[in-house]
Amino acid sequence: MSEAIINLAYLVASALFVLGLKGLAHPRTAVRGNLMGALGMLIAIVVTLFHKDIIDYKLIFTGFVIGGAIGAILAVKIQMTAMPQLVGLYNGFGGGASLLVAGAAWIETLTMAQAGDAQAMALLGNEQFSVATIASGIIGAVTFWGSLVAFGKLQGLVTEKPVRYTGEQVVKVILLVGSIVLGVMLIQTPEHITYYWYMVAVASVLGILLVMPIGGADMPVVIALLNSYSGLAAAATGFVLSNNVLIIAGSLVGASGIILTNIMCKAMNRSLLNVLFGGFGEVAEAAEEGDIYAGKIKATSPEEVAMLLETARRVVIVPGYGMAVAQAQHAVRDLFNLLESKGVTVEFAIHPVAGRMPGHMNVLLAEADIPYDKLKEMDEINPQMEQVDVAIVLGANDVVNPVARTDPNSPIAGMPIIDVDKARTVVVIKRSLSPGFAGIPNPLFALDNTLMLFGDGKKMIQEIINAIKEG
Ligand code: NDP
Repeated sequence: MSEAIINLAYLVASALFVLGLKGLAHPRTAVRGNLMGALGMLIAIVVTLFHKDIIDYKLIFTGFVIGGAIGAILAVKIQMTAMPQLVGLYNGFGGGASLLVAGAAWIETLTMAQAGDAQAMALLGNEQFSVATIASGIIGAVTFWGSLVAFGKLQGLVTEKPVRYTGEQVVKVILLVGSIVLGVMLIQTPEHITYYWYMVAVASVLGILLVMPIGGADMPVVIALLNSYSGLAAAATGFVLSNNVLIIAGSLVGASGIILTNIMCKAMNRSLLNVLFGGFGEVAEAAEEGDIYAGKIKATSPEEVAMLLETARRVVIVPGYGMAVAQAQHAVRDLFNLLESKGVTVEFAIHPVAGRMPGHMNVLLAEADIPYDKLKEMDEINPQMEQVDVAIVLGANDVVNPVARTDPNSPIAGMPIIDVDKARTVVVIKRSLSPGFAGIPNPLFALDNTLMLFGDGKKMIQEIINAIKEG
């Protein structure tokens, strides 16, 4: 296949990636966007297989079968609640693949140069090739190991608490500088490929140490950031291989990952600099639960909530991680239909980090066919909260915790929240007074205008529906 045709196909694939991303920006066009991206990737892969003169198809097919089987099994088996760790793992594999491909390209070029190939000799002295190889090795290793630690933390295999020690930042800077120095040594003595692997080893330790000090409520930012890193590593590998579509696809992932990181940072009140240098997510001493809840909790029943809803004009439902656990989205849709048929305005307030992954609530509510125009973003709904008759908090906790506004020492201090406490009545549906992801008590549960409906999210919603129908 001629170079021109290959590049034309790559251009088509890249255009499909861009259009696919644009489609993903809105739930209505997301499925089409996803298909476009997948088609772009198919074109890119097929064309690449014709690209090189020497390709071991047997090895590629073996990798395809093994990787495809693992991917298919994971996609079918994975619980929706474990999706963030899966995304984390994918990011890691992307980084790992990039560093291996860049290393292999160096070895191949070196072997050819040693056999007297003039082009390969020139390539080893080429700055773009060598700098890109170093970048791919360092970023790929950081992404791979950082992602494994993130996976371990979310899966409960590694402590969720921040692992801190004195001189942390100095150690990280030394590791970063050390890996770059090893990379420069490789450029100066290209035949010493061991420098590449030493560099990868040092960057791997850096990857582990970057994520270990991050804990609790800050994990979503890490996942988005590692996603961006995996894109950067892929783009660097694209420069190593002089593969345009890999450069474009990697840059798109890198850029969209950084944009998502930025959105997440804002949602959790973190600066990007703070994220890049780690050292956040420390869980401060939380106030004793007993002091906050003692004698102030008012439990309610589905029947009482049904009565409240029947007299309400405007209801806002705030879903959280518990809705995903209870798989209550279809029951919620039934409640939504029932109330709307009775003339009650029902809306959904979506916090950007509700649940365990960006867009978690949007996906679940879209699955249950809730109209998109009923999903309100935090900034849109908060100013109207005082006009809301009943706010139903369904399995959400941290994202409605008012200490984020009031306690500067809280681990979630400054995190924007959905101001349900300003609604006339708040009904919180959850199984107990247990804390959410950040591990801190929630004074919302003890407010005068809050009623607690204890039980599984899906069961409670169904019982409210039954009570409304019977009443
Ligand atoms: P939280 O984790 O704060 O709280 C979830 C609540 O759901 C718990 O308090 C739990 O209480 C309740 N729950 C669990 N199971 C059920 C059930 N079957 N029925 C009813 N309730 C149930 O969730 P939020 O969505 O409010 O906040 C998300 C948190 O996760 C934030 O701290 C965020 O930073 C973090 N995070 C977000 C990510 C993202 O990208 N969205 C990724 C990773 C972390 P009980 O046990 O009493 O029922």
